[in-house]
Amino acid sequence: MTPRLFIVIPCYNEQEVLPITAPMFLDKIKSLSAAGKIREDSRVLFVNDGSKDKTWDIICDLARRDEHYLGISQSRNRGHQNAVLAGLMEAKDQCDITISIDCDGQDDINAMDAMVDAYHDGCEVVYGVRSSRETDTFFKRATAQGFYKFLAMMGAEVVYNHADYRLISSRVLQEFANFREVNLFLRGMIPLVGFKSTSVSYSRAERIAGESHYPLKKMIALAVDGITSLSVKPLRLITGFGVFVALVSFIGVLWALITALCGKAVAGWASMTCIVCFVSGVQLICLGIIGEYIGKIYMETKQRPRYIISERTWEQEK
Ligand code: UDP
Ligand code: MG
Repeated sequence: MTPRLFIVIPCYNEQEVLPITAPMFLDKIKSLSAAGKIREDSRVLFVNDGSKDKTWDIICDLARRDEHYLGISQSRNRGHQNAVLAGLMEAKDQCDITISIDCDGQDDINAMDAMVDAYHDGCEVVYGVRSSRETDTFFKRATAQGFYKFLAMMGAEVVYNHADYRLISSRVLQEFANFREVNLFLRGMIPLVGFKSTSVSYSRAERIAGESHYPLKKMIALAVDGITSLSVKPLRLITGFGVFVALVSFIGVLWALITALCGKAVAGWASMTCIVCFVSGVQLICLGIIGEYIGKIYMETKQRPRYIISERTWEQEK
């Protein structure tokens, strides 16, 4: 059976790129359906993530001009992950497969052919993996690669060099809808759903226009979120480190006792200060890490909605 495809595209302040990339997505749908790989009534679904510029107007305009374009708008900016989730959840009951992709043209749209082929070969999830990062700046490349290595070290299993460009079947999405956490890290959560998966590699291009919304600060926040929502390894590392410090202190205590008993106790101000500084620093870091988990539990217990859709293009008056 030919599947109906929804391309899910989060957009935040993208008025410069959207007019350029939107027709590219439409052409892809047309060429895939001409090749008989997807149904003709497949759609491009834009998710406006509370943009402050003309992005939503552009989306509405596109939707009026061609029925292949659809759009939903979040009631405010909630971040990339929530925008993708909103789009996927909106699409899951209307289609057979979804492909999520950024709207800036950085991810090679032509990789979709191979993704759909993999679906026809029986894969329910197909990860788009970047084969090269030559077009990224050295800094972006180094920080991004450090990000994946650090995640793996901390026990968060993610597909290396895979961002949020992937095909997911609606069958997987139906199961994924049962993952109710509000702390989202999609690229680490989708592998947990299981099902047959594979990856397709593509080379990453430069942003067609506009600026990245992922400066270093947001990347670090995403890494911390990724680790703490997927793994408790940092807590175990703290325990291990605590045991190590306790052992060392035990030796220190013995040493102090023996020196005192031998009557050789000297004014050990420097060593004392060093130990106090070191241990209190370590304790503060450990408290911070535990606090991060408590914060997550706090947010999870509130069970707030993960996205709120305020408008849909197909519900508007034409
Ligand atoms: N994005 C979003 N909400 C945000 C930030 C970004 O929906 O708060 C979208 C953005 O429009 C783009 C995608 O997420 O389609 C990736 O963002 P960007 O290209 O800025 O990140 P980078 O590719 O530099 O990591
Ligand atoms: Mg980008």
